[in-house]
Amino acid sequence: MAASATADPTGDVPVIPHWIDGGEYAPDGTRTAPVFNPATGRVSAEVALADEQTIERAIASARRGFEVWSRYSVARRQSVLFAFRELLNARKPELARIITAEHGKVVSDAMGEILRGQEVVELATGFPHLIKGAFSENASTGIDVYSIKQPLGIVGIVSPFNFPAMVPMWFFPVALAAGNAVVLKPSEKDPSAALWLARLWQEAGLPDGAFTVLQGDKLAVDGLLESPDVSSISFVGSTPIAQYIYETASRHGKRVQALGGAKNHMLVLPDADLDLVADQAVNAGYGAAGERCMAISVVLAVEPVADALIEKIRDRIAALRVGDGSAETEPDMGPLISRAHRDKVAEYVDIAEADGARIVVDGRRFSVAGHEDGFFFGPTLIDGIPTSSRAYQEEIFGPVLAVVRVATFDEGVALINSGRFGNGTAIFTNDGGAARRFQNEVEVGMIGINVPIPVPVAYHSFGGWKQSLFGDAKAYGVHGFEFFTREKAVTSRWLDPATRGASEHGGINL
Ligand code: NAD
Repeated sequence: MAASATADPTGDVPVIPHWIDGGEYAPDGTRTAPVFNPATGRVSAEVALADEQTIERAIASARRGFEVWSRYSVARRQSVLFAFRELLNARKPELARIITAEHGKVVSDAMGEILRGQEVVELATGFPHLIKGAFSENASTGIDVYSIKQPLGIVGIVSPFNFPAMVPMWFFPVALAAGNAVVLKPSEKDPSAALWLARLWQEAGLPDGAFTVLQGDKLAVDGLLESPDVSSISFVGSTPIAQYIYETASRHGKRVQALGGAKNHMLVLPDADLDLVADQAVNAGYGAAGERCMAISVVLAVEPVADALIEKIRDRIAALRVGDGSAETEPDMGPLISRAHRDKVAEYVDIAEADGARIVVDGRRFSVAGHEDGFFFGPTLIDGIPTSSRAYQEEIFGPVLAVVRVATFDEGVALINSGRFGNGTAIFTNDGGAARRFQNEVEVGMIGINVPIPVPVAYHSFGGWKQSLFGDAKAYGVHGFEFFTREKAVTSRWLDPATRGASEHGGINL
């Protein structure tokens, strides 16, 4: 994690503040970390990193925000959500540019992530139906039993760099709709999107304190994990940190959902249309420079199709344009998030090569003219990687696609199931029976059938299995509403007015 910053050698850069109590906050002398434009490799800003006092201030403001927001009527809360949806829909191109400037992905891809987040906002506008309780009349003679759903209080969200708008939007529309106050700790690598969203909430009419952005690093995260005032944590990021969050938040008595890393396989049966498969593999492997938790990183080719498929993927890679994601003529793929991450991706390709793989297309010494200091890594294709290699087993999170040859469908499924992750997977075939067996036997949370990146729509829920999700609640959909509410069951008996009560006071004419 980035430590305190060195300033941009070319001059002063702005400080990206927190959003606390309905306004920007960045105390003098605050610790900061550099924020880069990955396409140029230059520092574009410094982000404030919360210390203990700032964490306390944020939580105190959220407590006040909760007191106000949770008492808004359902109809009034709904009108704020509708206003937010309209503002977001109208202004999303502005947000997309902010994302591209700090993350590096191409603008149309940034628009795509906002749209997927907006779907959850739209789901959340229908929240009254999803948070209403249930009623059982006369459960026993004269006794009614009913349940009501209430908010948790202050809920923490800790998000990764790769979807600075969409991932927070997997959680906060639902959390707010249910009446909670949100404290969002965005990634310190691309912190501006969260701030933009905070301003939008204010404009939509959300009361101050109900949505807080706490910028920072481990200190800020630990502050949320340990605070007795924070009721739950929704985390998305790498598996080791997800596990840490799950264990620490649980130890502090919190409700927790922690989504981790991935290594997604695409199984290609010999009957599949190989042109379609090659198109989809290139989109799913190299889109957003492979920095998607649902990116495909392994193509499992059931022989004899591997050689033909490698040729088709190689041809398509040759036509890919890599460059500055904000360029007027939009490229297909932008840079990686940081220099350190680019070096790590290159290291994995070195490992694959040392373990005996053939590097069919090598992106290691790739650069973009005019952007020599940008964090670019060329699309890379690997053949014949041994499944014992760390480069096969671990998440690379870059534009690196490996083709692994298997003899049968069963061998392919067994290989997928032997992995430690279980986020997404896909099968490409025209055989309905094979697809049906695949969905039944594969130990993965999200499955695509001739769909390479099967991110569920907002009214289903998003989440993997195994080390891709710690906890038992997925993001958004019905799972989301269950996570962000707690239920009370009321057992009630009112005496019949004939026995006692209102009639004595003349209220009811019996
Ligand atoms: P990361 O784990 O490094 O960071 C995620 C968040 O945790 C950030 O806000 C960061 O500040 C914080 N953090 C980092 N180290 C910490 C520590 N030691 N203690 C407390 N907090 C800490 O992840 P990243 O590099 O930002 O994102 C990429 C990862 O996220 C990939 O592994 C990717 O697969 C995963 N991801 C998963 C999903 C999913 O749905 N399963 C979605 C998106 C991204």
